[in-house]
Amino acid sequence: MSSNHFASLTFPIINKTYEQPTGLFINNEWVASKSGKTFEVTSPITEEKLCDVQLAGEEDVEIAVQAAYKAFKTWKFVEPSVRAKCLFKLADLIEENKELIAQIESLDNGKALHCAQFDLNLVIECIRSCGGYADKNDGRSIVTDANHMTYTKREPLGVCGAITPWNFPLLMLAWKLGPCVAVGNTMVLKPASATVLSNLFVCQLIKEAGFPEGVINIIPGSGRGCGNSILNHPLIKKISFTGSTGVGKTVMTQCANSIKKVTLELGGKSPNIVFDDCNVEETIKNVIKGIFFNGGEVCCAGSRIYIQATNEEFYNSFLAKLKTAIEEIKVGNPFEEGVYQGAQTTPDQFQEVMDYIKAGKDTGLKLLTGGERIGTKGYFVKPTIFYDVPQNSKLTQEEIFGPVGVVLPFKSIDELIEKANDSDFGLGSGIHTEDLNKAIYVSDRLEAGSVWINTYNDLHQNVPFGGYKQSGIGREMGIEAFDNFVQTKAIRYKIRVPQI
Ligand code: NAP
Ligand code: MG
Repeated sequence: MSSNHFASLTFPIINKTYEQPTGLFINNEWVASKSGKTFEVTSPITEEKLCDVQLAGEEDVEIAVQAAYKAFKTWKFVEPSVRAKCLFKLADLIEENKELIAQIESLDNGKALHCAQFDLNLVIECIRSCGGYADKNDGRSIVTDANHMTYTKREPLGVCGAITPWNFPLLMLAWKLGPCVAVGNTMVLKPASATVLSNLFVCQLIKEAGFPEGVINIIPGSGRGCGNSILNHPLIKKISFTGSTGVGKTVMTQCANSIKKVTLELGGKSPNIVFDDCNVEETIKNVIKGIFFNGGEVCCAGSRIYIQATNEEFYNSFLAKLKTAIEEIKVGNPFEEGVYQGAQTTPDQFQEVMDYIKAGKDTGLKLLTGGERIGTKGYFVKPTIFYDVPQNSKLTQEEIFGPVGVVLPFKSIDELIEKANDSDFGLGSGIHTEDLNKAIYVSDRLEAGSVWINTYNDLHQNVPFGGYKQSGIGREMGIEAFDNFVQTKAIRYKIRVPQI
């Protein structure tokens, strides 16, 4: 690999230095962009530049797609156990480098180190789990009549395009790469420009894991440039997109031109429901995890907190305990001991969060806690909660994507279900109660892809994740993830009476 596509980077506070790849990863090599253009990577912790990275444009997409197209012809037919072995090896290599990669993720994204470590565990287990599926992608034998033998195959689609967001940079890569290549597809992935470092670092491990050249190509570039070229490339047969609902609509529209298969993981405004018979101590932890984990930059964040208020004493005392617990949260440099919440990832997103907070204050919403920036350097925001917020408030209806939650009271199950479902989104949800009957009754009526009972953000590689309504189409993780990356071929053989 060419040494001019690496930069030496140093982590703040821990003062450790490592070599960061900065090229485009195509055909298992680091290459420069054809235009010669680069872009700056900055850290949201310090707002300082870290390095320049090659910027992929249309010509680079063409080269990457051709590489993936060529690789597909062979990769499609290799023994599934070979694909499994590459995925297992990749999971092992990421595990061996886990601490460093988590630090890279925190440096680039701003997330607290414990959040990056959570991501890394899921990345490793997801890739390993996909390796385990590679040789189990079986079709069906179908009985029709005595004169036919009929069976199906779950065949790969070809070159798949993936476009990912900046909140879980490596985890989104894992959710797409794992099932995609396990079943014989090849891929071209464009990470969000704001957070490319962990993806590029892992490319070295992809090569070391034994993936043949062209199977996995990772090319940083802008959404409108590189992303758009991926959406429009006729050789790409499927797009797996994670990001905002707005861009998701563009993706779907663009993919219609060449009838690409599309899966979308989009935004959310998830209800986190607290009944007055819950275990209060555990529920406070789950409410905090729901909205402040990863700085609230979580598509399934429990950002609408519904608290039972038939008994005003419970409602008020829960709010008081929540306020105390939130004010104990340590926000700051992700590498500092005990920090729960790091920096917001991008200046634009930081500004958007501050604008929502201002809108809440300007419309007279009651502030339980937070509501301000912390310091003047780095994008740090105090964990913020507004309470007694109306259902039709902008802050209840729109995704904020930051550490800002709204609390709404409810007095009956019917009222709760109506309000919880009164959203364009339907990604996550939480229910906190010691009454199993209540938990199941409500979970059956929530319009959401995930329901967490007495837990929150409780993701597992074996459990499918995805959205109802405008939160998306398709599922990631679990067996369901593979359905997104295959097409069914039916083979029917006419049996004649044999003559000997
Ligand atoms: P975004 O603006 O939709 O960007 C997502 C990705 O799409 C980035 O790689 C971006 O590239 C690219 N992109 C932007 N415009 C494009 C276009 N016209 N054509 C092709 N690609 C384009 O979202 P974001 O601001 O990065 O992420 C935050 C949003 O993602 C939130 O709304 C959140 O809810 C959602 N999200 C959902 C999930 C989920 O699992 N459902 C997970 C994470 C995030 P550049 O940024 O490089 O230009
Ligand atoms: Mg960055």
